[in-house]
This record gives sequence, C-alpha cells and structure tokens, in this order.
Amino acid sequence: MAIVYLSLGSNLEDRVGYIQQATSLLGGTDGVTIVRTSAFYESEPVEMNSENWFVNAVVEAKTTLPPQHLLEQCQRIERQLGRKSKSGDYQDRTIDIDILLYGKEVIDTDTLTVPHNKMHQRAFALVPLLELIPDTLHPKLQKTMSDLHEELANPEIILLYGTRG
Ligand code: ADP
Ligand code: MG
Repeated sequence: MAIVYLSLGSNLEDRVGYIQQATSLLGGTDGVTIVRTSAFYESEPVEMNSENWFVNAVVEAKTTLPPQHLLEQCQRIERQLGRKSKSGDYQDRTIDIDILLYGKEVIDTDTLTVPHNKMHQRAFALVPLLELIPDTLHPKLQKTMSDLHEELANPEIILLYGTRG
C-alpha cells in the first residue's frame, strides 16, 4: 500500500465538474482509496498558448496498484472525461491527471517519471501540496514542499478558487 499524490487540472468547459468527476472515478477504481483532497485553486496557464485558466487540486490516495498500473488508470479516466490526446504543444484539456508522488519512490521509465519532473517548478502542484504535506520531503531533491515552494523563482499566479476578481 502506497500513499500517492495526484495532480488534477482542467482548463476547458466545466472545469470544477471535471475535477470532481475525476476524483470520484479515481475513488471508484479498484485498488485506489481517496484519503483527502486539497482545496480547489485557479492558476494561469504555463507554457501554453491558451488564455484559459486552470482549476487545480491535489488528491491524496492510498493504492495497492503498482505505479505503471496507477498511471494507466489515470489515463483511462482522462479518456473517459473526453481528454483529447494530441502530440506537440500543450493543449487545452478537460482533465489532466499526473502522478506527483508515489510514496518515497523514484521512478524513471519511458512512460513514467516520479516524482513528476516539473512539480518542484509549479505553484499549481506545490501550493495544494503545502496544504496537505508541507513537511514531507521530495524524495529526489530532499527538500520539503514548503522549501520548494519558497524557492519558486517565478511562480505562475494561483488563487483559491472563487477569489479571482
Ligand atoms: P502533461 O501532463 O505534461 O500535460 P500528458 O498528460 O499528455 O502531458 O502526458 C504525457 C505523458 O507523460 C504520458 O503519456 C505519460 O506517459 C507521461 N508521464 C511521465 N511521468 C508522468 C507522471 N508522473 N504522471 C503522469 N504522466 C506522466
Ligand atoms: Mg498529464
């Protein structure tokens, strides 16, 4: 049994609805139990040609699934919620589910990098993690989520959902 942290993001159509549905589908997946979720946030798109802000949250779950199987279940749910997979530039998406942390494991395969390779650079991952596990160490960088958050050089804007003017 591993504790995992999954990043959920949506910047298309009913963004909050997609995050809620994704959470519910994750909780209904064999071998996955939701423990708690962060608040919902809104963040400006990064590295994308899009004006559409994201709704983001992080889900803490327990799982008996090995990492690759967990990834496949996340991808199944993305497809179920209408995620179009296009290569190339980052696209607007109904839902993106990324594995941020899988216990203390460090994984580097063709299809899966854990901890997520960008999480330490992204306010939309670190801010929800600050709520859930501020003092937990990043297994590769050996710094806490709070430290990583403080070290963000040029963070994108992130606001609690509902507080964006
Ligand atoms: P992004 O999340 O960067 O916007 P995608 O969701 O389209 O892009 O994912 C592209 C690929 O990233 C997936 O096919 C998956 O194999 C790979 N990947 C590598 N590490 C992870 C991870 N930790 N969580 C989710 N996907 C990952
Ligand atoms: Mg993804």
